[in-house]
Amino acid sequence: MTQPAQGDACVMDAGDYRVLLVDDNVNDAKIIKKYFQMHSEAITLDYAPNAESCYRKLIEQVYDLLIINYTLPDSTGVEIVKELREIDVFAPIIVVAREDEAEKAVEVVEAGADDYAVKTSQGLRGLSGQAERHVEEYRKKFLTNEKFKERRFELYRNKNVYGLLSTLHNRNLRHVAPVVHTIHGYNTDRVPGVVSGDRMQKILNILTHYRVLHKTKIGMRMVCPGCGSDDVTSLFSCPNCGSDVFEKTRTRYVCEGICGERFADLKRVYSCNLCRERFQEKDLLFDPVYIYSVNDELKPEIGESIQSIRDTIKRHTITASEKKPEMKTVSNQ
Ligand SMILES: [Zn+2]
Ligand SMILES: [Zn+2]
Repeated sequence: MTQPAQGDACVMDAGDYRVLLVDDNVNDAKIIKKYFQMHSEAITLDYAPNAESCYRKLIEQVYDLLIINYTLPDSTGVEIVKELREIDVFAPIIVVAREDEAEKAVEVVEAGADDYAVKTSQGLRGLSGQAERHVEEYRKKFLTNEKFKERRFELYRNKNVYGLLSTLHNRNLRHVAPVVHTIHGYNTDRVPGVVSGDRMQKILNILTHYRVLHKTKIGMRMVCPGCGSDDVTSLFSCPNCGSDVFEKTRTRYVCEGICGERFADLKRVYSCNLCRERFQEKDLLFDPVYIYSVNDELKPEIGESIQSIRDTIKRHTITASEKKPEMKTVSNQ
């Protein structure tokens, strides 16, 4: 097999998008992945070996593109495409087929797929470019699609969403980071609009689902293996009695706990501020940390909706304060 020319692979800047590849043939999947990585390093490609796993992944993650093999162990390309369109998956679908299936693969377009590609080296080489065209087209469609526009405007009216978006909008901020602690030196102080809590995470997930925000992985954070909280601090403890109170002499640490022993070195432990559990470094769990950025293309829409909500609130407040004295007179009589 010949390597495609370097220039060939780098002609287009695909931006970052996430692909779900559903194919039970692991070798084909590896080849497809390689072609996508050559096209752009910013593309994330997740893999599902069958239809069941595909549906599970769709619950957890928003995909910008689905690539589905014409035959699957637990479904067929035609069947799965029909089902995905029925459940309103808003992403382009490209079906890939072996050369001997190519003639039949046309049916998948009738079933709702956007395109198909044949698994020859030429077909697979063109796949990433083909994919990018469809992703771009869907991004445009998504912004102008009336149904999604309506859903987004409904979303903006949610009190918490409005609060977050209006903060971002008024202060002209671009990013939101939902966590405070990271161990890889990422300083969240540099990220304006730092927020925390499960509730905020839920809002961020919904906004990402509707592509109001994009999420990008920026590092890892420590989480408590007991309760999953990220409010974890490291401290030194006595290796003997577990006390964390010491007196420091010139050369030693003297434990002020029950043992009173002297130590040259102390043991580092981690303590969860939520469940109070203590654990060692080897037991630490790590979660990816994401930063969320506002979708530039939706900025005018967000600004407009914030203004209209603000106007509505103002009108309500004025009406309410005008009515007040009237109410008083009524109650006085
Ligand atoms: Zn001690
Ligand atoms: Zn905990």
